[in-house]
Amino acid sequence: MHSWLQIPDNSDFSIHNLPYGIFHTGDGRLRAGMAIGEHVIDLAAAAESGLFGKRRFYQKIFSQPVLNDFIALGKSQTNRIRKKVQDWLRQDHAPANADALLIPRKNIQMAMPIRVPNYTDFYSSIEHATNVGKMFRPDNPLLPNWRWLPVGYHGRASSIVVSGTPIQRPKGQILPPGGAPDTPVYGTSRQLDFELEMAFVIGKETAMGETIRPENADEYIFGMVIFNDWSARDIQRWEYVPLGPFLGKNFGSSISPWIVPLEALKPFRVKGPRQLPEPLEYLQTKGAKNYDIHLEVSIQTSQSPESVVCRSNTRYLYWSMAQQLAHHTVNGCNVQVGDLMASGTISGPTAGSYGSMLELSWGGRQEILLNDGTVRKFLEDGDIVRMYAWAGEGPNRVGFGVTEGQVLPAK
Ligand code: CA
Repeated sequence: MHSWLQIPDNSDFSIHNLPYGIFHTGDGRLRAGMAIGEHVIDLAAAAESGLFGKRRFYQKIFSQPVLNDFIALGKSQTNRIRKKVQDWLRQDHAPANADALLIPRKNIQMAMPIRVPNYTDFYSSIEHATNVGKMFRPDNPLLPNWRWLPVGYHGRASSIVVSGTPIQRPKGQILPPGGAPDTPVYGTSRQLDFELEMAFVIGKETAMGETIRPENADEYIFGMVIFNDWSARDIQRWEYVPLGPFLGKNFGSSISPWIVPLEALKPFRVKGPRQLPEPLEYLQTKGAKNYDIHLEVSIQTSQSPESVVCRSNTRYLYWSMAQQLAHHTVNGCNVQVGDLMASGTISGPTAGSYGSMLELSWGGRQEILLNDGTVRKFLEDGDIVRMYAWAGEGPNRVGFGVTEGQVLPAK
């Protein structure tokens, strides 16, 4: 697919991608855009110029500070808009309105792309669940329910922030090393971690009582983002029994600013791992339901440049998004447009593919070596964590950009 616009080879934002985001140019006027190469297409301006028809309607939709109303129009509409932009980019010569619609991405700032009504975090990587299980429960790493259902919990939507937002180190109840057994102190977390995850955005609501079959899941998934589920392991370890994660998790999660539509990821579908025992009927799927998306995490410290500490892939996930959604709604729980459902930490089978420092440092027992000889077990103040995700290569690459966040000292 050729365009009159120059798009660098290996750009995350090729003509096959066209992800949606919310941006401004320093004036605070938030509006919707689509990333292409080094540019953003101002969708509000595109609507104004008549590219989508129904000029006033789309101008209003794309001038909103979040994408929820646009997403709620449904896939027939959102895919039509996507096709219109693709056709606009594929003309033989630059159209007359090119200058009015295109803004260099270096001149814009990104904002939170959606209002998130609800957030759910799954635990769908068998490698991650087994690694964490070994550290927290050495005798019984993978609990008996794990291979029967996509384990998950309801997270906190209010503290989900867009990439670039700093994360303040949390405080809470912690068991001090060498302290009296089962007697916590109130203090600053010393085991701040990242979790490498991907999340999907719900694009179509259901009513209470309604369920979603895995074969229909794509209808309800608008697109995906990178998701860093920041975690305080020392707080988590003490609080998580019996009801699961709480304050060790809900102080902040970061997402990438561009939502990659599911349609752009279709060429990268792959089969997931074999599931044994065979899942119950409502979780059974056919064909390729996983995605071949490369993932990378890097740490930059105040002394050392960026070092890659993890390389993983969404194809490792044991439970697919379709199965997560089918399970989430099997009891009649309703979903809403903008809901985020995160995969859980995506670890691969080898040590270099573990998606958290808890696993990379094996519970703080080993040092993680950065490029210049600096070491880490967990994150220190000032560290910047970046996560990258992309599928394909060359002119066909479909990428997510970056999710980044810097650790600020506790207050
Ligand atoms: Ca998580």
